[in-house]
Amino acid sequence: MKLNHLWILLLVSSLFFSCKENFTGDPNIAQVDTLAQENFNYTVEEFADIKILRYQIPGWENLSLKEQKLVYYLVEAGLAGRDIMWDQNYRHNLKIREALENIYTTYQGEKEAPDWQAFEIYLKRVWFSNGIHHHYSNDKIKPEFSRDYFDTLLSDTNTQLTGDAYEVIFNDKDTKKVNLDESKGLLEGSAVNFYGEDVTAADVEAFYKTKTSPDSNRPLSFGLNSKLVKENGQLVEKVWKSGGMYGPAIDEIVKWLQKAREVAENEQQGKALGLLIDYYNSGDLKTWDEYNVAWVQATEGNIDYINSFIEVYNDPLGYRGSYENIVQIKDFEMSEKMSVLEENVQWFEDNAPLMPEHKKDSVKGVTYKTVIVAGEAGDASPSTPIGVNLPNANWIRVEYGSKSVSLGNIIEAYNNAGSSDVLNEFAFDEEEKQLQEQYGQDAGKLHTALHEVVGHASGKINPGVGEPKETLKSYASTLEEGRADLIGLYFIMDPKIQELGLTDNWQNLGKASYDSYIRNGLITQLRRLNLGDNVEESHMRNRQWVSAWVFEKGLDEGVIEKVNRDGKTYFDIKNYERLRELFGELLMETQRIKSEGDYEAAKDLVENYGVRVDQEIHKEVLDRNAQFKSPPYSGFVNPVLVTATDEDGEITSIGIEQPADFATQMLRYSEDYNNLPVKE
Ligand SMILES: [Zn+2]
Repeated sequence: MKLNHLWILLLVSSLFFSCKENFTGDPNIAQVDTLAQENFNYTVEEFADIKILRYQIPGWENLSLKEQKLVYYLVEAGLAGRDIMWDQNYRHNLKIREALENIYTTYQGEKEAPDWQAFEIYLKRVWFSNGIHHHYSNDKIKPEFSRDYFDTLLSDTNTQLTGDAYEVIFNDKDTKKVNLDESKGLLEGSAVNFYGEDVTAADVEAFYKTKTSPDSNRPLSFGLNSKLVKENGQLVEKVWKSGGMYGPAIDEIVKWLQKAREVAENEQQGKALGLLIDYYNSGDLKTWDEYNVAWVQATEGNIDYINSFIEVYNDPLGYRGSYENIVQIKDFEMSEKMSVLEENVQWFEDNAPLMPEHKKDSVKGVTYKTVIVAGEAGDASPSTPIGVNLPNANWIRVEYGSKSVSLGNIIEAYNNAGSSDVLNEFAFDEEEKQLQEQYGQDAGKLHTALHEVVGHASGKINPGVGEPKETLKSYASTLEEGRADLIGLYFIMDPKIQELGLTDNWQNLGKASYDSYIRNGLITQLRRLNLGDNVEESHMRNRQWVSAWVFEKGLDEGVIEKVNRDGKTYFDIKNYERLRELFGELLMETQRIKSEGDYEAAKDLVENYGVRVDQEIHKEVLDRNAQFKSPPYSGFVNPVLVTATDEDGEITSIGIEQPADFATQMLRYSEDYNNLPVKE
């Protein structure tokens, strides 16, 4: 399961998932609008509706050379299959890409004119989508240049592109990559290259009806790794395996996976890699399941990966997996924070401002896992998920569990791109900006860790009271998220945090955290709503009801001051200690509501503080935000892993470089990983 494409993050909310659901990565990180760290330039470029970002690989130097090699081989394995994704998306994609790239690299004519710029943007959009259909809307991308101009480019550069592959750029055929409108025919209306052109949905249904798994409790993933075509009137699967369809690319993948296996960190990881190799060699779906079981059990080690035909969203019938690769390194910093909190989780429970009867005598921390991405390919690149929960086979999840991770450095890059401008606009004064700059990042991470490890674990429900889902109904989720946030807010401004070695200045850390939370809850998150809308999403609601409640309760004492300066509204926290007490009071009440299942109180809290938006402030915020309009979709270039070798060709070190720009990386990929040569 792919969790939360970036556009969701940007369009809707950074805090999109309920932590109670599969996604454990609660992007509280995403809510902290910190100044970019270390002057790292996150933004590469923007074109059309796309923003290209870059990400860092923090902690790379903590890996041994052997571990770095493992990462490198897995990244290479991923890229080796890049062109599979292009061909899966559409049968003419590779041919079209080859022609476009040939024009792009050899054209000697005028490059300042709008026509050429339109051509360049078209190519970049095609690169971004791994084909000629928009990565998200699935609509065929319309070129903003004329057919005549394109003909000139073709002839001036001596580029061959004829027939359907040429016509389709301009005509109205294959307009949708994945069509889910049944009236147009799920397959007939979809351009995706998973079925022969004469295969119908009814054919597919009939074909797979006859397939039975040896063990009906452990169903095989039929259709996951093949294209279904008709040959002489018979339906045949063209299996994606060594020697089969995509064989040349798969052999390259296997070559790198074998190298990876030689430097595996432990036996279980090596076993899983071995099974993945077997699967690529045989195409056998039983082996695929064995691999997934081994992979899900390979939990030791600092490196992990996703590689194969995984998500089935691109198949309108939901059988066939898109090729995908994500290489992950343990997030050492976050893991350390989590484990310190976990070891001390009872202290937090004992010292939480809860009614004694709502405290747990023996509390166990909830952990979630963030990883650092080292490279992505296929379905995960350039557009990437921010979290992943696999495997998809339900019976494996039930019997063996699953791995769920959030992609920490990807989320960080999203948050930091352009955030300093937003901070400058909405922060009250220099002090607030500086605290944010110095402590914002740490505060965000620690708040997330407290929210997850301590927050969701804390408190107990009174005997005889049902689960919040039953008692608090539609308010359960926002109540739970707010409660976990409040635990985080209460303890982030506690000397205990410094005593545990989690910060060098608990007061400043706390202030940065409170500033950010209030600013977001009362002001900046409104940027995500249209004027006139209520707050609907659970996390956005909880940030508003927490912030609005403490603002109101502290009004008489002037805890948080609402300031209007030059027609702009700011919230300035005057008394952090008192604010902390108010967070504590609200935490106690929220836990009481949960423990007693007090539906009316939950409803009052959420409806009175969390739903409605002050229209005047909202309009003002949108006006102030208009200057920061950025493209709705984002994606990433990958850092480049650069190897140095000795005279025997042995790798002696691996460094990280950032690609100069998007085109440079795309062209290099097409050149170096051109493993499915286009047939003439
Ligand atoms: Zn949560």
